[in-house]
Amino acid sequence: MIKIENLHKQFEDLEVLKGIDLSIERGKTAVIIGPSGSGKTTLLRCLNLLEIPNQGTLTIENQSVTFTNRKLKTSEIMPIRKKTGMVFQNYNLFPHLTAIENIMEGQIIVLKRSKEKARKKALDLLEKVGLKDRADMYPHQLSGGQQQRIGIARAMAMDPDVLLFDEPTSALDPELVGDVLKVMKDLAEEGMTMVVVTHEMSFAQNVADQVIFMDQGVVAEKGTPKEIFEETQNPRTLQFLNKVT
Ligand code: ADP
Repeated sequence: MIKIENLHKQFEDLEVLKGIDLSIERGKTAVIIGPSGSGKTTLLRCLNLLEIPNQGTLTIENQSVTFTNRKLKTSEIMPIRKKTGMVFQNYNLFPHLTAIENIMEGQIIVLKRSKEKARKKALDLLEKVGLKDRADMYPHQLSGGQQQRIGIARAMAMDPDVLLFDEPTSALDPELVGDVLKVMKDLAEEGMTMVVVTHEMSFAQNVADQVIFMDQGVVAEKGTPKEIFEETQNPRTLQFLNKVT
């Protein structure tokens, strides 16, 4: 489903991604872990071209782009962006729209769905994330955990091939984290393809098919949760896990 080959990204003189190679299979959940500043968020943002890599190739569902330090055309960016849905750390909901309007907006504007069809889809998704009774509330009337579940429903409404999560629970009070992780776990079990940057090691352990450990702009190690959390001999992985678990 996703193939990343020799991906490089730099911000001026700072090389943040130093040649990333990864494959993520359809229907699987990849969880990216690693120290702060190792390039996790930048990699995720490169997957939907919110950041444009300097070198390498990205393929999502038979749609390929090769980066050669050039500005991409909108016609190259849009097909990739349409295949991905992004869930942000700070939810990024439209504050002037209600929960259901937030979930309808992209469907109407980008996918050109009728209002009626968009509303039906939004209601189904609100039910899925357990917030049907909050449809007409504005973001400021919802808890962080509820806002994030709306964020997930909004991303799902666009029928993406893959969902990208950028530290989706790190802005939440601890008691609200569980509800969001539960929605993500349900999606993973239903066979959604997901790439998740998170500090929630228990989520990585229990839900990931593939755990990717990043350190200083490279994939230092990748494997199953068992390989990474129980069997690793890699000193960098061990040092990181000793700090966070
Ligand atoms: P992580 O998600 O692992 O904490 P990030 O991908 O957010 O790491 O950041 C990796 C490095 O890239 C950091 O040193 C960060 O300061 C830098 N960085 C990220 N985004 C930008 C940007 N837009 N401009 C300049 N530097 C950036």
